[in-house]
Amino acid sequence: MDAIDAWSLIDIPWASLEGGIDAYLQCMIDRCTALFGASRASLFACAEGSQTFQLAAQSGGTKPLPGDAAIVRGIGIAGAAIANRRPLIMEERQPPTANLELDPFGEAEAITSSMIVPLDTGVGDIVGVLNVARGPGRSPFRENDLRLAMSLAAHIALAVNNATLIGRMDFAKRDAEMSYERLRKVLDHLGIGMVLVSREGIITHRNAQASLMLGMQEAVGSTFEEGLSNCSRILIEPAKSVLDAANRGEIKRISVGDRSNDRWWLLVGSPQPDGGVTIAIEDVSAFERSRHELERMTRLAEIGQMTAAIAHEIRNPLTGIISAAQMIVSSPDLSFEFGQMIEVEAKKLNALCDEFLEFARPVTLKLEPSYLASVIGRVIDQFCMHLPQSQVQVELKIEGAQPIIQLDTAKIEQVMRNLLRNAIQASEQGGKVLVTVRGNSATIKDGGHGMSAETLSNLFVPFFTTKANGTGLGMCVVKKAIQAHGGDITVRSELGKGTSVTLNFEGEN
Ligand code: ADP
Ligand code: MG
Repeated sequence: MDAIDAWSLIDIPWASLEGGIDAYLQCMIDRCTALFGASRASLFACAEGSQTFQLAAQSGGTKPLPGDAAIVRGIGIAGAAIANRRPLIMEERQPPTANLELDPFGEAEAITSSMIVPLDTGVGDIVGVLNVARGPGRSPFRENDLRLAMSLAAHIALAVNNATLIGRMDFAKRDAEMSYERLRKVLDHLGIGMVLVSREGIITHRNAQASLMLGMQEAVGSTFEEGLSNCSRILIEPAKSVLDAANRGEIKRISVGDRSNDRWWLLVGSPQPDGGVTIAIEDVSAFERSRHELERMTRLAEIGQMTAAIAHEIRNPLTGIISAAQMIVSSPDLSFEFGQMIEVEAKKLNALCDEFLEFARPVTLKLEPSYLASVIGRVIDQFCMHLPQSQVQVELKIEGAQPIIQLDTAKIEQVMRNLLRNAIQASEQGGKVLVTVRGNSATIKDGGHGMSAETLSNLFVPFFTTKANGTGLGMCVVKKAIQAHGGDITVRSELGKGTSVTLNFEGEN
């Protein structure tokens, strides 16, 4: 045996060799040839998931094996050794054969003894096969040669396996990098600004749109607040506010409008599962412009529809005023009586103007955190002060815990006044109106005359009224205000039994 010993084979770190695993296998096969005093040796390795083992390295021999030499699992002597995971020693080679598939080591070269050792890591599939052969004049391989070859084969198998794993890791890394790149491109061309803020409050990513809209050129690595230093002033507070909400685990949306420049944005802060936060900003100017235009057109159409109805409503009191004025002119001694009549009719006109304006005006809300029950309680108190004792009794019932709701209290007071007025007007003397507040909802229930199916279906039609001096605008104002709050209204009524109106506001119960 050569001066070379088995340890020198185990010592070779394949990863540090220039040429990687291929150079390592060549080095191993050269040393194996020397170690075993072989005339030739070869190594076949298997591509992942394949049944074919390709020539990976060879050494010695008078004629090298062709580069495309291969062994198929289960076919030929080597193929059988792989399939059975059994190393073997062959004495006196079989008659030479030209069929590489059957015997890839075969060659018209005299061989007295050879070892075929599958590369077995002990887990998973066989990753290759090692063949070492001695020519004439050398003693045949013994059991201890085979044992040594098996441990070397196990060593080589591990290296091959590691190389495969590292290759797979490299591939996965490249794949991840490509996916990241694709995602980044998608994000950059999304039309929405995106900023990722870590749990510690540091900006980790921001896309091109965010740079534009929030002025975040050099922001990555700085705090969100620092990142906003070049941002338009109108966006700074809303951006901080959605960040704070997302840090508390809430998804928050804020729309920001710059009316002087006709620009609008929508900011959304969302918590991320890893504790970070995503801030998205979208320029919604075009959408808002068309929405405002649509609102304006709808309002104009409503106003147009109503003009005829208003003329009619105004004419009655006006006729009264004109007749009274004529009476005063012709009989000045009756001026006190007719003057009073003029005042009553003029007040009706004034009330009509108020209701009309309330209805025609676009609803803009001044929201503040409020308790629904407190707002309603206040209205009932004011209302009852002006009711004669015996007339109608109004009772407030508060059920369960009261959540804080975003309300425009002035608007809700107006809503309650309209609903209470209708309920009281429908009730008989001594009747009762019950107002129940439960979570986000309030129900106003009366035991009055109720509504016919026709009245019920016209309830929200502007100027529809069954009252001699009603305007028919009260319920329209109620509906508009409730919808502006994102809430809804349900009305149940039975003729002769009474009516109940339920208001539902958005929010957690
Ligand atoms: P107005 O009170 O000026 O008539 P509203 O819009 O408030 O106008 O109401 C429209 C109509 O709906 C009323 O004229 C009445 O016929 C009917 N209505 C509203 N609320 C009630 C109620 N609680 N009970 C019976 N009818 C009602
Ligand atoms: Mg009314």
